[in-house]
Amino acid sequence: MTDKSQRRIAMVTGASGGIGRETALQLADAGYDLIIGSRRPEPLQELDLALQNKGVRVHAATLDVTDKKSAVAFVSGALAAMGRIDVLVNNAGLARGVTRIAEQQDEDEWQEMLDTNVMGLLRITRLVVPHMIEQRYGHVVNLGSTAGHDPYAGGSVYCATKFGVRAITSALRQELLGHPIRVTSVDPGMVETDFSRVRYRGDEDKASAVYAGLVPLSAADVADVIVFAVTRADHVNLDTIVMRPREQGPFGQVHRSL
Ligand code: NAP
Repeated sequence: MTDKSQRRIAMVTGASGGIGRETALQLADAGYDLIIGSRRPEPLQELDLALQNKGVRVHAATLDVTDKKSAVAFVSGALAAMGRIDVLVNNAGLARGVTRIAEQQDEDEWQEMLDTNVMGLLRITRLVVPHMIEQRYGHVVNLGSTAGHDPYAGGSVYCATKFGVRAITSALRQELLGHPIRVTSVDPGMVETDFSRVRYRGDEDKASAVYAGLVPLSAADVADVIVFAVTRADHVNLDTIVMRPREQGPFGQVHRSL
């Protein structure tokens, strides 16, 4: 993919940090041009520069996946600037709090998770996939989670959103059978990013305790698997990839020995 006219173009949502940022960097190394979006402009500009320094074409724009107008402007701006979208990495997502259902005082955190992880992912998908159908090529990669396989107390709504992503991925895969479009879900366990800082609203002690005593996955580990999935031969569809740190088992089991 060295010929610029033949380079594939990947869109990554939630690219300002964590898994999204690392995925954009690794896709650039794999020869992709990039469309990147998230709400915070500063880290996005910094990533834009880092990608340009790798010699790839980049379109960076602010994006709030919970806002219909923002999503429409983001996708249409990206198509105007780059011409096509070959890979969509639906990465933007978050968790808020670990409050049990009976103790939840209001519904704002629930709404934010549902709006971002489910509605946001659906919204970007419905805006991008028609172009993939028209151009007869595409690959949608959704960031699920082991939370979409093993629910846990205090995680009801976050888990519900990731069970939702699993359902959406499976339905989309069936809907697109017969089109040359691949659909993959990458479902990680514990990944050390800003995820827990966001979940605990900046409480460093609570956030770092999540990863204490074991080697968690890094954003680079997850990006590596995303890039692996999208760089398989066009006829190969990896449906669901569940990945955890070695010391994390299913159903909340964690071996902490460090
Ligand atoms: P992170 O470091 O907090 O990154 C989340 C990204 O999503 C940020 O770039 C954030 O950017 C963006 N984002 C959040 N709300 C958004 C919105 N409304 N519109 C656009 N962008 C938005 O967390 P991460 O670990 O990389 O998480 C990435 C994905 O992996 C999420 O879907 C998460 O659920 C999933 N995941 C994470 C883990 C884990 O343990 N870390 C495990 C399994 C799955 P802005 O704030 O700038 O908008």
